[in-house]
Amino acid sequence: MRFGKQKIKTSGADKWFSKYIRYRDKWTCQNPKCNKEFDPKNGKERRRLHCAHIGYGRAHIPTRWEALNCMALCINCHDWLDQHPMRAFWLMSQKLSHEELVWLQLQYKGRTRGRIPKHVEKEAREKYKKICRGMGIKYVD
Ligand SMILES: [Zn+2]
Repeated sequence: MRFGKQKIKTSGADKWFSKYIRYRDKWTCQNPKCNKEFDPKNGKERRRLHCAHIGYGRAHIPTRWEALNCMALCINCHDWLDQHPMRAFWLMSQKLSHEELVWLQLQYKGRTRGRIPKHVEKEAREKYKKICRGMGIKYVD
């Protein structure tokens, strides 16, 4: 994925976090106008549902693994979202409370580069495992 000219490196934490978000959102596109469901067991379908960074882009480290900043969106809705910032604003106002929106706004720290903290990957993996247990599904690496 590209943000302007900057190619963003992905890490293990991104992988776990993305799985966590898609399971949390029950493998369903979170755009209320779409609501398309995906089968996590089908590799082709699985790739068509993304963990989309809504309020702040993925390059913004302080909110890169913040669950409130992300939701599962299908590839089409992700494109649709990226075409206009107002769509992100609309989508967030559909899903988050006023307090959550205000909290998220305050997370802007202007930091877009730097090292990924070591504990982040572990936390992302733990969150994913926990959600697997909660849903009674087998934890897959
Ligand atoms: Zn969609």
